[in-house]
Amino acid sequence: MSRAYNFSAGPAALPESVLRRAQEEMLEWHGAGASIVELSHRGPEFMQVAVEAEADLRALVGVPDDYAVLFVGGGATTQQALLPLNFAAAGQAADYVVTGHWGRTAIRQAAPYADLRIAASGEIDGFHSIPAREAWRLSEDAAYVHITANETIHGVEFRDVPDVGDVPLFADFSSSIASEPIDVTRYGAIYAGAQKNLGPVGIGVAIIRRDLLERVGQPRADIFDYRLQLANGSMLNTPPSWNWYMLGLTVKWMLAEGGVAEFARRSAAKSTLLYESIDGSGGFYRNQVDSAARSRMNVPFFLHDDALDQPFLEEARAAGLISLKGHRVLGGMRASIYNAMPLEGVQALAQFMREFQQRHG
Ligand code: PMP
Repeated sequence: MSRAYNFSAGPAALPESVLRRAQEEMLEWHGAGASIVELSHRGPEFMQVAVEAEADLRALVGVPDDYAVLFVGGGATTQQALLPLNFAAAGQAADYVVTGHWGRTAIRQAAPYADLRIAASGEIDGFHSIPAREAWRLSEDAAYVHITANETIHGVEFRDVPDVGDVPLFADFSSSIASEPIDVTRYGAIYAGAQKNLGPVGIGVAIIRRDLLERVGQPRADIFDYRLQLANGSMLNTPPSWNWYMLGLTVKWMLAEGGVAEFARRSAAKSTLLYESIDGSGGFYRNQVDSAARSRMNVPFFLHDDALDQPFLEEARAAGLISLKGHRVLGGMRASIYNAMPLEGVQALAQFMREFQQRHG
């Protein structure tokens, strides 16, 4: 059996060396007499895993000391609901900039807890671009401004950090965290589900400017309280220790590969190759996203005739290229090319696309 090039949007491909390491350590972790997932999360073995994962993530992403790092069970969607509970007073305004499906999801999670305002939306042009900053209608009394740094389905990515003045900027980095150097200090909070660039599904991270944790927020259960989670080392209850461990291995792999500057270089090479293949196909394949907002992580594309979708997927699979079916919201195809996808995988896809076009063009 051989591993295919896996273009899944998430859960997504993990580096083979991480999987092998986990396999080696599966029965016994570092002489502990048991697997890490069979040991108490409060014991010295898991404590070491947890502490290293945080230190490594801080080093990888460049998180300053005045930001807390939390490991949160559940998905990014869970955190979308926690944001207003922790950072907005009941009924306070919160501004959302919607550049695709996940921005809309964020609004649905937050709507019961805040006065949600859509400051700008790319919906009118089919989410093919990011609304110009000058056109955003921001509220002075907003608890925060929320953006989706990279829209995983629509393939739209912020290439600059928008200036939103003194109101803290919150960003969903689920599908682009650790893919390039970012200036964390421009954000009040950054959150992400792990299952794209950071490891397996079931855990997420939140990077939060510490002064924001002083906000009263709204009545909420302890388990939904970021401040209490921080005080308890993200272990108010039993954390998803296996996922945390796998995240730690994945972050170590990224550091060893050269860190975010190296992944920015690789992402530029991979995404440029793929967009050139699409744009250079004479309309056989198309992607309509404004070139200034095209995602480096998720490349949605359509074949000129959707009757070719099924043959495309079947022939791709036979060529060792899997999980290219687009999200049901958009249809078509989507190639997700996160940090664990090597350039060779994208080269193989580009070659397959050329050959498919020759056969079916
Ligand atoms: N935000 C973005 C940008 C995503 O890509 C996803 C998942 N694909 C989510 C939020 C939701 O994440 P989860 O399924 O982990 O709740």
